[in-house]
Amino acid sequence: MAEHAVNYVIIVGPQGAGKGTQAAAVAPRLGLEHVATGDLFRAILKSESELGDEVRHYYDQGALVPDDLTIRVLFAHIEQLQEEKRGTTGVLLDGFPRNAAQAKSLDDALAERGEAISAVVLVDVPRPELMKRLTGRLVCSNCGATYHREFNPPKSAETCDQCGGELFQRSDDTPEAVEKRLEIYYEQTEPILEHYREQGVLLEIDGNREIDSVTADILDSLKDRVSA
Ligand SMILES: [Zn+2]
Repeated sequence: MAEHAVNYVIIVGPQGAGKGTQAAAVAPRLGLEHVATGDLFRAILKSESELGDEVRHYYDQGALVPDDLTIRVLFAHIEQLQEEKRGTTGVLLDGFPRNAAQAKSLDDALAERGEAISAVVLVDVPRPELMKRLTGRLVCSNCGATYHREFNPPKSAETCDQCGGELFQRSDDTPEAVEKRLEIYYEQTEPILEHYREQGVLLEIDGNREIDSVTADILDSLKDRVSA
């Protein structure tokens, strides 16, 4: 990929929309490296590099990593990929940018390199459906097995099929907690989507279908946007 233009594809979606599943399914079929920013940070924190030290400085203080540092971490990783994996056509970014300021910083960093975003994939699912998906989870207090009231129900509503332990709902999965997380997502993400819509790179995918149909739709939408 060193000699060719690098494809920068971003995948966005609310929690519960299946974004991670789709990213994992789509990336290898387009020759893209799935780059989840969370994983990237975990890896660099373990490394003995100057960048790792810089990131650790913020982590140790419990502070957010500044956008420009995140972007440096990202490009360091991309450059490493260019050296190691010549078959890679680009990256599928998952987890960055998370707000309009980060989207702008990324645009600027790409422009400096004479590059640009190829496409932004939004995996969209209506909010009531997300609520249903995210609030239905039940966990066994004894063995940790997980169930879903609707999609993977236990035989009895209150006890674990495997060990008979008591099932409970995690505090993260209550309707109030889920509403709050989704609210933050919509507040931060709407401006990003608008930003990319104006650039003509936003692809809106209906994520409220069978996983395979969603994957096929994403691949079809991207085929003219990602160069080999
Ligand atoms: Zn159990």
